[in-house]
Amino acid sequence: MGIIESMRLDGKKGFVTGGARGIGKCTATGFAEAGAEVAIVDLDIDEAEKTAKEIAEKTGRKVVAIKCDCTKEDEVKAMVDKVVAELGGLDFCHANAGICINAPAEEMTFDQWNKVININLNGVFLTDTIAGKYMLEHGGGSIINTASMSGHIVNVPQPQCAYNASKAGVSQLTKSLAVEWAKKNVRVNAISPGYIGTDLVLANKGLAPLIDKWNAMAPMGRLGKPEELESICVYLAGDTSTFTTGSDFIIDGAFTCF
Ligand code: NAD
Repeated sequence: MGIIESMRLDGKKGFVTGGARGIGKCTATGFAEAGAEVAIVDLDIDEAEKTAKEIAEKTGRKVVAIKCDCTKEDEVKAMVDKVVAELGGLDFCHANAGICINAPAEEMTFDQWNKVININLNGVFLTDTIAGKYMLEHGGGSIINTASMSGHIVNVPQPQCAYNASKAGVSQLTKSLAVEWAKKNVRVNAISPGYIGTDLVLANKGLAPLIDKWNAMAPMGRLGKPEELESICVYLAGDTSTFTTGSDFIIDGAFTCF
């Protein structure tokens, strides 16, 4: 089999949190295009159902929608059980749900801090460990986390200490789980995107006006598109990345290079 065929995901089953829109919708589409059956997991079940239908029609694969708040342990457990029941197993997952709240540190409320850490870091911990437990007990799997370039640099001019800290946490959690599970055939990797044109940026009144400023700082002079993150995730979910674990792929058009 050639390398491109080996990268296909035929027969594999997986889920994407925050899969209803943005980056998660794109990676779910990539997984299904590569042959996988996929669950779209999101708080917003109406949007998740629309997305699941759209991807199923486009790819001919089984794509289901599952409502889940990734910050709630019982909901994440029930979600993983449902993925296994509806798709017949679990080979990979993309822990991607996340939010951004911007406020100067001295004005950020503890509630705002907790909300960001809860979704971006605690949610990934729950998703990874609950899905990982299933994978450890069933022969292995591949976990992909969405971190961010914000875990590697401090973005300016917007103040976002909670977001930056949460994403640095995701990068280090990724490496910790990769080492713990390295001999047990469960791989854990992260993607760290730069600025990507999704609702997280475009629909955020505090962030959207900054796009021109960011583009002026960006070597490529533009935002990334969510589609530009698909292929790395298909690679990580599949069987050509078997020596790739504990890696954190910064995909930012060279934004963090200087
Ligand atoms: P988005 O706002 O377009 O989509 C996020 C999705 O997550 C939404 O569908 C939302 O309903 C869902 N979600 C939020 N909280 C949830 C919860 N508790 N449980 C389940 N689902 C929940 O954002 P996006 O840009 O696609 O971001 C996806 C991930 O990528 C996030 O982790 C974000 O931090 C990260 N990221 C985004 C950028 C960017 O510039 N857009 C850059 C780097 C990293």
